[in-house]
Formats: sequence, C-alpha cells, structure tokens
Amino acid sequence: MHSDLIIIGAGPGGYETALEAAARGLSVTLVNGGKLGGTCLNEGCIPTKCMVRDASVAMTLRDATEFCATEVKYDIDFNKVITRREGVVSQLRDGVAMLLKKAKVNVVDGMAKFKDSNIIEVDGQEYDAPHIIIATGSHSRTLPVPGADSEWVLDSTGILNLEFVPAELVVVGGGVIGMEFASVFAALGSKVTVIEYMKQILPPFDSDITKRLKQSLSKRGIEIITGAGVTRLEQNYEYKIDVTYTLKGEEHHKLCDNVLMAVGRGANVEGLGLENAGVAYSTKGIPVDDNMQTNVPGIYAVGDVNGKMMLAHAATAQGRRALNHILGESDNINFDIVPSAVFTIPECGMAGLTEEQCKERGMAIETGKSFYRANGKALAMGEADGYCKLIFAKESGLLIGAHIMGADAALLAQQCADLMSLGATRQRMRDIIFGHPTLSEIILVAAQS
Ligand code: FAD
Ligand code: NAD
Repeated sequence: MHSDLIIIGAGPGGYETALEAAARGLSVTLVNGGKLGGTCLNEGCIPTKCMVRDASVAMTLRDATEFCATEVKYDIDFNKVITRREGVVSQLRDGVAMLLKKAKVNVVDGMAKFKDSNIIEVDGQEYDAPHIIIATGSHSRTLPVPGADSEWVLDSTGILNLEFVPAELVVVGGGVIGMEFASVFAALGSKVTVIEYMKQILPPFDSDITKRLKQSLSKRGIEIITGAGVTRLEQNYEYKIDVTYTLKGEEHHKLCDNVLMAVGRGANVEGLGLENAGVAYSTKGIPVDDNMQTNVPGIYAVGDVNGKMMLAHAATAQGRRALNHILGESDNINFDIVPSAVFTIPECGMAGLTEEQCKERGMAIETGKSFYRANGKALAMGEADGYCKLIFAKESGLLIGAHIMGADAALLAQQCADLMSLGATRQRMRDIIFGHPTLSEIILVAAQS
C-alpha cells in the first residue's frame, strides 16, 4: 500500500505529526506496535501526573490543620488512585483514536520493519512511501549489577502495575522519573529512599534548584543519598529486598519492599531493520540533523529515538520540524528554548540555559533572584517554599535561562519560555504589567532584583 508519508510509532512524536501531516494534505500511514499515545499517554506523562494529583490531595489532607480544619482523618485507598488514573488514560486514548479516524490517517496495528529505504513490512504486509518518520520512542534501562534483572525490580511501567503502596521503597536513580515517583509514594505513605550516583539529584537541572528541592523533599521525610553506586540487589527469605550500595568507598545496605530502577532510558532501535534501509544508529539513538533527517535522505527520526531530548513536547516539535522539511517549508521553532519540569511536590521548572552551561560556554551573564516567601499569593496559598532564578545575557540583557522551584513552577517556566521565545530583555520584562496577587510576580521581582 502506498502513502505520501509513513510514520512508525504513535506516541506524541508520531501521532501528533500524523494529524498535522493529514491536515496539511498528505496521505499518512501510522504504524504502531503498542497502545495509541505511546509511552507518554499510557505509561509516562499522563498516568504519573494523575498520581501527582492524588499525592497533592493527600498532602493537603495531611496539612489541613494549618488551614481551616481542626482534625482530619483519612485513609489512602490506592484502588481509587488506580481507577481514576486508568480512566483518564483511556479517555485520552479514545480521543487520540477518534482524532486519527477523523483525519483519515491509516492506522496499522503492528511492529514495523524496514525492507529498504522506502518500504516497511508489518505482519507480512508491505507499505511504501517517499518519506518515513521513525518515532519509536525509548525503553527503561537497567544496571549491570547482580539482581537488577529480577522480576521484583520494577521499572517505571512496572511500578504503575503495583496494586498497593509499598511500606518501604528504594528508588535507584534520582533523575526525573525517580524523583517524581519518590515524591508521589512518600505522599501516599511509603518510606522512600533515593540512591543517586551523581553528587546531585536531577543532574541536568540548575544546582541552585536541585539543592533546594533536595532540602524540601528531605523535610518531607524522603531520604536522598547522593554520590552512591548500587552494586547488588538481593531478595531475602522474608521477601525483603536488600539493596547494597557504596558511598565514599564503604559498603552500605538498605532493606525495602520494592525497588524502582530509574537510571535512564535507551532508544528503541532494535528490531526495526534499520540496516536494511542503511540508517546509521547506535545504542544512544538515531543521529539526525537539524531537520531531524537521518543519514538517509527522506528518512527522519523524531522524539526519544533520536536521543536528543526525552520530552513529549520536544518529540511533537521535532515531528513538526521534520514535516516542514518534507513539505519544503521553514519554521521558527527554537530547540534551545524547550521548557521542562519535574512534577515533584514542590515542582521544578526550567527553560533555556543553566548557569553551569553559561559558564561552560564562557558567556557573560547576570542573574536575578526572588523567593516565594516574599510573594503575597504564595503566602496566601500556604506555599512559601520556593525560589526563582533568571539568567540574562550581560550585554544584550536577553532572558536566556529560567529556573524555578515551588508551586506551579512548570507554568512559570512556560511563561519564561514564552518571554524568551519572543526575545524579552530584562528591561522589557520590567515594563510588563503583571497582575496582582499572582505567582507570576515572582518572575517580575527576579527581573527587577
Ligand atoms: P513514545 O511515546 O515512546 O511512543 C513510541 C511508540 O512507538 C510506542 O507506542 C511504541 O509501541 C511504538 N513502537 C516502537 N517500536 C515500534 C515498531 N518497530 N513498530 C511500530 N511501533 C513501534 N515527558 C514530558 O514531556 N513530560 C512528562 O511529564 C513526562 N513524564 C514521563 C514519565 C514517565 C514515567 C516516563 C517513562 C516518561 C515521561 N516523559 C515525560 C517522557 C515522554 O513520555 C517521552 O519523551 C515521549 O513519550 C516520547 O515520545 P515518542 O513519540 O518519541 O515515543
Ligand atoms: P534521567 O537520565 O533523568 O535520570 C537517571 C538518573 O539515574 C540520573 O540522575 C543518573 O545519574 C542516575 N544513575 C545512573 N546510574 C546510576 C547508578 N548506577 N546508581 C544510581 N543512580 C544512577 O532518566 P530517567 O529519570 O530514567 O528519565 C528518562 C527520561 O524520561 C528523562 O530524560 C526525562 O526527560 C524523561 N522524563 C521526563 C519527565 C518530565 O518531563 N516531567 C518525567 C519523567 C521522565
């Protein structure tokens, strides 16, 4: 069967691009081996954010006596967490199916394999197109240590299948996935320990932010051990898991009921028959140019599979760039300004460069800082724990980085990304009228400071 465009994978890289390509007049075949919506909708962004909301409700109940309540008694019913989460996911998945049907995208259920650079095969059936976009996503990685492959070690998908809140949970890896689950399960009642290899949690985030987040989560009772390497995992006769790790050259142990392995994700490049099409790849992913084109003209790779930036909205934007290139159109997408957030409680949000990156690039910068505790709305909300750092280029005054920890940090980082995209300078930001009282004023005060 022939189409103008074949897309492999229906995550936010694949299905969003399929919808846009169809709206722009292309006939599209979308091949997907898993559930529509990919990792993001079924096992990533959406189910985890449902659980973040449950965690935040639990914390509100716990802290209610600081507000209007005298005493609040509550139990966590984890079945309700699961039921609500699955309901949201299936509602959204039905929505994706409906949109694809309406757009007349030819959705093929199955695993695609390249036969050559224009033909793919799915369950013995051939499909051909002059342009192919690979959007096959990524999978959880594990550690090459004894016990890491055991069925009682959970990855981010496995932990979503838990039917109870573990009494004691060890999270291996203090990255985005690890910290989000640590925050959720601590709020739902688990005793959580995070073991991170690097000196700080969330390595790509600004160290000013991660230090504060670590303090904040530690106050919530989460134990965070940094600079520690896990060397072995064993289950004892009482079904407790013994996690062995080394810290400053000494061996330590942590006993727990469940382990979440969250040490990064690897690109889905195996089994695609990339060699049949001559597409270069490695375990890090499929290398692409600025138009997301691989070494083979007409074949593109977007989203997690190219290893550039493992974020849902980055996958979608990369898909749009690939499509524009196919259609011979230009765009203004700036991949240097991708907002990202960690939905811990409190949240962290960032956009643009970190102070460390500016130093590495030898850039002259100025910073502006502000604190939630000095913001009227934050205090009214009972959310005094938070911090904002803005980075400006010294000479031009352009806003080039924003780093925020605190309530609604993801939204505030998005606001900064908008300002950055439109070329806002420190001076120009000071002239914008910010509504009062809002958390957004935290950005204004940082620009004024
Ligand atoms: P995917 O969403 O992984 O989709 C790939 C699809 O391709 C899948 O359906 C797969 O079955 C299919 N496929 C694979 N191989 C083949 C083949 N050979 N043939 C046919 N189909 C195939 N990002 C955010 O921006 N915000 C968040 O809050 C966030 N939270 C996350 C939480 C967790 C726990 C995880 C794991 C990830 C999270 N992410 C988040 C990351 C986000 O999910 C990914 O960046 C995003 O899903 C990548 O989209 P994609 O289209 O590249 O791939
Ligand atoms: P990650 O790369 O963010 O974090 C992995 C962590 O594991 C790192 O901090 C790393 O230092 C640590 N680590 C590696 N080896 C270790 C070892 N031997 N012992 C202890 N720690 C070790 O990866 P992730 O958390 O698995 O997430 C994967 C991707 O998913 C990320 O790139 C992220 O962009 C995406 N994601 C995004 C969101 C979001 O946007 N809110 C949420 C979840 C996931």
